Amino acid sequence: MEQVGFIGLGIMGQGMAHNLLKAGFPLTVWNRTASKAEPLLAAGAAAGQNPAEVAARSDIILICVSDTPDVENVILGENGVLAGVKAGSLVIDCSTISPIVTRKLAEKLAAAGAAMLDAPVSGGSEGAARGALSIMVGGEAKDVERAMPVFEAIGKKITHVGPIGAGQTVKLVNQILVVGNCLAMCEALLFAQAGGVDTAKALEAVAAGAAGSWMLSNRGPQILQRDWRPGFTIDLQQKDVRLILNAADELGVPLPGTALIFQLYRTLQAQGLGSEGNHALVKALEHLAGFEIEPLPPSGS
Ligand code: NAP
Repeated sequence: MEQVGFIGLGIMGQGMAHNLLKAGFPLTVWNRTASKAEPLLAAGAAAGQNPAEVAARSDIILICVSDTPDVENVILGENGVLAGVKAGSLVIDCSTISPIVTRKLAEKLAAAGAAMLDAPVSGGSEGAARGALSIMVGGEAKDVERAMPVFEAIGKKITHVGPIGAGQTVKLVNQILVVGNCLAMCEALLFAQAGGVDTAKALEAVAAGAAGSWMLSNRGPQILQRDWRPGFTIDLQQKDVRLILNAADELGVPLPGTALIFQLYRTLQAQGLGSEGNHALVKALEHLAGFEIEPLPPSGS
């Protein structure tokens, strides 16, 4: 069995790394904030001192950190993956970042004899915890085949979508749909409140029909409880929308809906709400409407 390394144990990385351990992979982990590695060390993972050491001890190295400069730092920085990676190893980046920078990083790793796949994921913190992610993979077919046992430990739907960088492009397709769904959900729940209907019953009724979506089923109830804990933070969501708009600008494609959502999230960041969940988008609409969705009464009342 190949030795696996995992770098970046945030909301997504925690669940993914736990599922690799459960699948029986020998695992070495590293996180910038060391305390986040503790649950994994308790579950049987080994600790790497830095990304270079994780790479040196692993045949397959997964990365799941925040943004493009963070992946660059983890791979190219001092004590980064490139400083420790062995020839013949495979680096899999599961973060959502720029497709262009992805291709540059793959070239640098190739010069050290290592291969790279971009494998961004979808399915939220729930999907990461349950090993049920959708994984969009870019790279060489032989590397995808090699990575398949690892992907099957963390995901349910694994799609090889094209050459290196293609996974990130498809992830941005995914994110156009995610933010559009989120805005539709927020408008719909606000309208339900204004219409004087029971918002929980409205949600239950429409989630089962043609309007149903992952966003509605997972984040709709959170809005009704006014529970703003993040599965995915506004700051990271906004990072993805920026990646979409930059790519769309280069491609000359108009995305007016996505551009509007970027501005709405900006209002929430300006109010210091960037660490709340992306479903807190409803707060921007509540501000425009001049009323709030009433919280559900505590259960049992
Ligand atoms: P998160 O909980 O904020 O975790 C971010 C992780 O990146 C943390 O481990 C953080 O380390 C690490 N990190 C950030 N900058 C770093 C740097 N410069 N050097 C080293 N480590 C760094 O975020 P997340 O929700 O897990 O998201 C991680 C990636 O998955 C993002 O690209 C995101 O877009 C993508 N994603 C997220 C979701 C979701 O629903 N949450 C779904 C699909 C894809 P510290 O602990 O030290 O801060």
